[in-house]
Amino acid sequence: MDLKILWMYHDLMDLYGDKGNTQVLKIRCEKRGIDATVDTCTIGEKRDIRDYDLFFMGGGADNEQGLIYQDLLARRDNIAEAMKEKTAFLLICGGYQLFGKYYRDQDGNTIDGLGFFDYYTESTDRDHRCIGNIALETTMDGETFKAVGFENHGGQTKNVATPFGKVLAGHGNQFRSGFEGFMNDQVVATYMHGPLLPKNPKIADKIIMRALKRRHGDVSLAPLDDTLENNAREVMLKRLGVL
Ligand code: GLN
Repeated sequence: MDLKILWMYHDLMDLYGDKGNTQVLKIRCEKRGIDATVDTCTIGEKRDIRDYDLFFMGGGADNEQGLIYQDLLARRDNIAEAMKEKTAFLLICGGYQLFGKYYRDQDGNTIDGLGFFDYYTESTDRDHRCIGNIALETTMDGETFKAVGFENHGGQTKNVATPFGKVLAGHGNQFRSGFEGFMNDQVVATYMHGPLLPKNPKIADKIIMRALKRRHGDVSLAPLDDTLENNAREVMLKRLGVL
């Protein structure tokens, strides 16, 4: 069995170790005998997104988002086709924002998003930036559990129909908002850097299962020893007072 991952804008959208997410996906597949490949794609490069089981895009500062958004918009039809053909999506922070209607930065400059979803993002003033460790409770594909990460965004994402989780500590979509990210049955979009997957092996496995589904149907994954990962997550949940 194999899994094809596409990491978009690897050279520009890679804040706070987002790259680690691709490494975790790869190693958790390999430990189960699944051959995972990670291809990269940046501005101007040709790729057919329909070839991939998982589309991954990390976060980026306003500057990087400004550099990539036109290239991303030019791929809109191809991304829409891949969505229709059941590619799974993992989008972090700046990547999350650009799948909504638009992103407005602190100076009032607005860049269009892909508009696949009805949410939009407007930056707040410097005093209300959302920065720090975050914990949430999510129900992903029928299982409820706690997750941890790190957020740093000025963007306040509004009009999110189906959030990724309920915030237990930290901010989420908006300053002290109570809810975090966006999720449907194919897309997980979140402000959680850290990177997300090393400390949240359950999310990693659910993403792998979502991605395998496109070509391999429902696959159950053999359990791995996640003692270290779970200990790391628990340290943070304890520190945030939400264990
Ligand atoms: N530039 C965006 C913001 O500040 C996204 C930042 C990020 O990806 N961490 O909201």
